Amino acid sequence: MTFNDLELAKPLLRAIEELGFDKPTNIQKISIPKILSGVDLLASSKTGSGKTAAFLLPSLMKLIKPAVNSGVGPRILVLVPTRELATQVAQQAIDLVKFMKRAKVLTLFGGVPYGRQLRDLTKPHEIMIATPGRLIDLMNRGKVDFSRLETLILDEADRMLDMGFIKPVEEIAAATPSERQTLLFSATLKGPVAKLAKKLLNNPDQIAAEDENAQELKIEQRLHKVDSLRHKHSILEHILNDPTLQQMLVFTSTKIFADQLADKLISDGRGAASLHGDMKQRERTRTLQALRSGAIQILVATDVAARGIDIPTISHVVNFDLPDSPEDYVHRIGRTGRAGASGVACSFALHKDVGKVRSIETYVGKKLDIKTIPGLEPKNKNEDGPRGPRRGGKPGDRSNGRPRRFNRQKSR
Ligand code: AMP
Repeated sequence: MTFNDLELAKPLLRAIEELGFDKPTNIQKISIPKILSGVDLLASSKTGSGKTAAFLLPSLMKLIKPAVNSGVGPRILVLVPTRELATQVAQQAIDLVKFMKRAKVLTLFGGVPYGRQLRDLTKPHEIMIATPGRLIDLMNRGKVDFSRLETLILDEADRMLDMGFIKPVEEIAAATPSERQTLLFSATLKGPVAKLAKKLLNNPDQIAAEDENAQELKIEQRLHKVDSLRHKHSILEHILNDPTLQQMLVFTSTKIFADQLADKLISDGRGAASLHGDMKQRERTRTLQALRSGAIQILVATDVAARGIDIPTISHVVNFDLPDSPEDYVHRIGRTGRAGASGVACSFALHKDVGKVRSIETYVGKKLDIKTIPGLEPKNKNEDGPRGPRRGGKPGDRSNGRPRRFNRQKSR
């Protein structure tokens, strides 16, 4: 199947060609015809599957015809959990509407001054990409006009709910016309997401993850058993010397650890930077630009900050600290292997992390490949958990192998 078979308008096909998309990904093949038919859609979609174009392309088709209602507000609203994802979805929207008329993209997120956003809201815009917090804020000031809204899209809905956006999302949806088309994309369709979908979607068609087998991430998932923080650093050093390495995203459990690790890499002469929620938006944007342009090779990040990063040259993801949930693991490793490229994900597991490794393996449905590096084998080969003294702490010590002074309160 090609994009031509999907009955998309010429300006969109031209943009797709310029973007270099040869053929639709699986989720695009399945969801584009459904969305074009006008039904509400509930789609379980993995990261890196091409889901953004899957919901944007058919929604943009509606813009070919002039709006039925008058007003300056958006005809398409995409709600996303984070600023980074907002920027990326907006970039893809801008690329896709390049040859369309009446298709202005407006991005709204917090952490930046209101002035420009307030000004932009008074001019006609057709596509709005927003994080729920800032949008509610602007709605409460009476600055948002939903009279033209035709399509509401919830992207990474599970994450929006995890981040506590349930109320704002429901309020925003309630402020839009009830005859709208609603599309919900989420890594999981269970629990609170299912509840939200029941409230907001009208008799939706559903696409399950099994339908998306072409989305199988081409990612080699390696597990490095480690004894201590020092051991983690040595293995990281080894991976950094891998000749196939292009760019690397390293995850730590806290902002402080992210800064410390980036500082260490810089003092070792590497091009590195950290990215976390404490940074001002301008700094975060600058850091991501530096990664995108190749000015830095290694980005050390926390989960929240790295959400939505889409840089095809990230060849390696390193879980320096394992994430708290298997869902975060999948999101982290999905930062490599984007759109069919291959990638390597290396996870460092201390003996105390055995439970986390098991739940990740259950969640992804396979065992991670245990990797040992000659000369850097773990000393304590016990696979059943924290028994016996380890370097960097006493048995049962929860210091993560770090000196005690680093064991501060977790904050992302
Ligand atoms: P997403 O899952 O929407 O975050 O998309 C992941 C990456 O795939 C992005 O870099 C898109 O630009 C890219 N992409 C989306 N659709 C296609 C396609 N049909 N062919 C090649 N790349 C694509």
